Amino acid sequence: MGVDLGLDLIVVGSANADLVVAVERRPGPGETVLGSDTSVLPGGKGANTAVAAARLGAKVALLGAVGNDGHGELLLESLRTAGVDTSLVRRSDRPTGAAYIFVTPDGENSILVSPGANSALSEQDVDLADARVLVASLEVPLPTVEHAVAVAVQRGIRPVVNISPMAELSAGTLAALDPVVVNEHEAAQLIGQGADLRGLLDLGPRSAVVTLGARGALVIEADGTHEVESPKVDAVDTTGAGDAFTGALAAQLAEGADLVTAAHLAVKVAAISVTRKGAQPSYPTAEEVRG
Ligand code: ADP
Repeated sequence: MGVDLGLDLIVVGSANADLVVAVERRPGPGETVLGSDTSVLPGGKGANTAVAAARLGAKVALLGAVGNDGHGELLLESLRTAGVDTSLVRRSDRPTGAAYIFVTPDGENSILVSPGANSALSEQDVDLADARVLVASLEVPLPTVEHAVAVAVQRGIRPVVNISPMAELSAGTLAALDPVVVNEHEAAQLIGQGADLRGLLDLGPRSAVVTLGARGALVIEADGTHEVESPKVDAVDTTGAGDAFTGALAAQLAEGADLVTAAHLAVKVAAISVTRKGAQPSYPTAEEVRG
């Protein structure tokens, strides 16, 4: 049986240190380019999702892995500060995951991810506490996510998976999801470019949510499709917008909201997040969303 940590939500996913350097241009092969000072920011899809949910007041734990190093400490500290329960974060002998992010003056990012400890999160680490909803993303090994979904189903915990980055989930895992969450590019990879997005349900999930950038999101259920419009905002940084959306959606589902109501709150949260710099620092509190 799961431990009772009094949780609404368990997030299974990555924690990375984002190492951001501004550069005039990307280095070519064999070339050395000098850049700005390095900003070290807490990131990773799992940690971002957990922080987004915690800011809204959800009781959330991250099931993930960090190394025994300074980046691991930084990530644990930022999770705790946001109110995320870190008792399910494993310490690994591998280095904490890192994303090397080069930002050029045109605003384009080039990103190299070194998964490190995230790759070490194994099926044996999946020891789920009791919760209402489990939400996973794919910067950790696919077998770990599939096992977590299977255990969640056994325990009566509602499984949500954001298939990002793209991975080939088994038919059994897909069939359990309620919902599967993808952006437009990921949807195209799953069902083909230009295909009717309702086709996502043919892959087996009980429901699907497709995020549509500035246009908001589409909620697809067996009995119908609902367009959920985003508030119009001036976007300054869309880093981590998808994670904000997923964290807010899962937090609302854990509170008992229906999927369409949850998506309405999630687009508001994600819209606020894109008006501010960074991923985790840009995520709003419940008060800010209401106001
Ligand atoms: P990802 O970040 O995974 O690529 P999207 O670009 O679809 O996914 O963004 C996720 C969510 O963030 C959207 O559903 C929307 O709610 C919000 N969002 C993204 N870009 C904007 C924007 N320019 N204006 C308002 N909301 C946005």
